[in-house]
Amino acid sequence: MEKQVEELKQQLEQQCLINKELERQNKDLEKRLQEKEKFLQDLQSQYHDLEFPSQSGNEIEPEVRKSRVAVVASEMIPETLEIKRNRVKKTVSETNLIVKAIQKNDFLSRLDDEQTAMMVDLLVVFDFKPGDDVIKEGTEGDSMYIVAAGELRVTQAGRDLRNLNVGDVFGELAILYNCKRTATVKAKTAGRVWCMERQTYRTIITNKSKKKREQLMGFLKTSRTLKDLNDVQLSKILDSMEEVKYQDKAVIVREGEEGDTFYIILKGEVLVSKNVNGHQKQIRRMGKGEHFGEQALIRAVLRTATCSADGPVTCFTIDKEVFEDTIPVEHLELFDDSKVLQEAQVPLTPSPKSTLKFKDLVPVLYQEGRYQGDPVTLGVGGFGRVELMTTVNHGTYYAMKRVSKKHIVAKRQEEHMLLEKEILKATHCDFVVRLHAAFKDTRYIYMVMEFCVGGEIWTKLKEVGRFDEHIAVFCTACVVEALAHLHNKNIMYRDLKPENLMLDVKGYVKLVDFGFAKEMVRGEKTYSFVGTPEYMAPEIIKNQGHDFAVDFWSLGILIFELLVGSPAFSSSEPQKIYAKILDGVIKYPPYLNEAAKSIINKLCRPRPGQRLGNTKNGIKDVRHHRWYSSVNWHKLRMGQMEAPTVRLIRKGPCYINFDRFPADQSKAEEEFSGWDRDF
Ligand code: ATP
Ligand code: MG
Repeated sequence: MEKQVEELKQQLEQQCLINKELERQNKDLEKRLQEKEKFLQDLQSQYHDLEFPSQSGNEIEPEVRKSRVAVVASEMIPETLEIKRNRVKKTVSETNLIVKAIQKNDFLSRLDDEQTAMMVDLLVVFDFKPGDDVIKEGTEGDSMYIVAAGELRVTQAGRDLRNLNVGDVFGELAILYNCKRTATVKAKTAGRVWCMERQTYRTIITNKSKKKREQLMGFLKTSRTLKDLNDVQLSKILDSMEEVKYQDKAVIVREGEEGDTFYIILKGEVLVSKNVNGHQKQIRRMGKGEHFGEQALIRAVLRTATCSADGPVTCFTIDKEVFEDTIPVEHLELFDDSKVLQEAQVPLTPSPKSTLKFKDLVPVLYQEGRYQGDPVTLGVGGFGRVELMTTVNHGTYYAMKRVSKKHIVAKRQEEHMLLEKEILKATHCDFVVRLHAAFKDTRYIYMVMEFCVGGEIWTKLKEVGRFDEHIAVFCTACVVEALAHLHNKNIMYRDLKPENLMLDVKGYVKLVDFGFAKEMVRGEKTYSFVGTPEYMAPEIIKNQGHDFAVDFWSLGILIFELLVGSPAFSSSEPQKIYAKILDGVIKYPPYLNEAAKSIINKLCRPRPGQRLGNTKNGIKDVRHHRWYSSVNWHKLRMGQMEAPTVRLIRKGPCYINFDRFPADQSKAEEEFSGWDRDF
């Protein structure tokens, strides 16, 4: 009997073990099922991304290509904004919810503490009922939202994508620029959202950035060491400085140690103490705007006192090494002799501009293929269409950009369009497309440019996947020359990307598309949000104010893309691209060599003042980088360097190096507001 009981007990125990094991396996299966489900969901959303790429903001969808469209937000920023009427006080739990939502969002989580606090402060409430459309697919967005209560459903082209619940963020791209909504968000239940309009966000951030800069300039001016520098030089120093945070009691500099950093206190208080007979004696307390360690910038010094944080402290700092790279002590010499050399070039051929008449231009037609007989379209961009033209007597080819005036007005691009023409007209550089004439009628404005027969670098890159190093070196060397020329005339370009680089008949690269170029006063900043997401410098995304340095950032991204085949920061969702840019971590494939990685790293420095090209020797440092050691810059400028790109150019009909586009059936509406008076 006892034996039987013992046996039963054993069996029972065994069964228990088996049960436990089964339970574990069950859990395991459940977990795997969940993972699979998530994987499926991911796949599904990727499929949607493929089928309905976000950000297509393009009315004319060419069939063959998916080049990247530039984005812009350049609406006027008012000096002050009536925001008090909207201001809503938040409870502690509401604040917590908002902060948590911001922290878990890809893009918003990259904003700094101040910007987050401002966001919390400025969000307004907005209640919804079941069935309300909070966002409508295809419309232009001007606000972002955080769900405060209730549930909403996201759909795209009628298909369910996902649900949104309390703490979820949506529509956040719209606070950066006006973009088309790529999905609809409908309320499932009643509820409420926190909402922020772009105008509010941009105004506050921009004015804050401007004020901060002015304040920092003021701080710098109180330094004895820097007092002889002018505003342009001080501004350069600011661009190189970095924010560093210290915790309570942290020692920032220690008496007797070698020092090489200068500090300005932005937040908090710093205690200065000295060792007197073995005792630490406090000599003073410093606060916001005061600075220490300036001697370290000009000579090797040992610190004469200890500075430590009293409570949390934020400083703005610069090291001696960076400082020396930023401004030469004698004078600020930014540019080199490229201008002199360019003037020694082949004499300018008289521009045919004076003789070229609009009525003499006739479209070139496709000679074969499915569009046979239609006018040749060379490209379709965000704002217009570029067609191949020739003259009646069949002499030269021209590329004519035609843009609907109505569209320009609708997108508030009048200023950009006028600037594009003015800048192109004034630019005579072999690395920039030549503008021969400009015309307008009641529907369109037209720009007649030299025809770059070799086609876009973008198309070539897509054909071969990625470029051999010597091709990338050559192409970007041409870009360096174009930038040298433009920056020398105080023009920044702001839309560098393979889509805007064209090959001429010799295989030399030329910049086209000056829609975002702008003349700037040295030392000043501009605050508009412009560029193509993948190529945008972090200071643009953060609305901190930007200048010529953004072109060097983009040059780094361009070098990467030509060598690798895709840009350094990419994603199908723009907000993820921005998040990656703000993180600034570039992953290099193993086949890139040290020189290439070095130049990209130096061009893509987050602080504009530390970027290669924007330090004290200017663009010379880019030319002298070892990655360009095979380039004879003088020969390149003279057009005497052999172009390795020629083998990318196909022979055949003059449009053979271009994608083909169906004819434009539409006719733009007339527009009479008169903005184009000076065009
Ligand atoms: P984006 O969206 O880039 O602002 P956009 O409407 O301003 O476009 P451009 O970039 O100037 O237009 O031109 C669109 C395309 O037309 C170019 O990418 C290129 O393929 C073609 N193109 C432009 N200029 C020329 C030229 N001079 N010669 C040959 N093709 C050209
Ligand atoms: Mg373009």
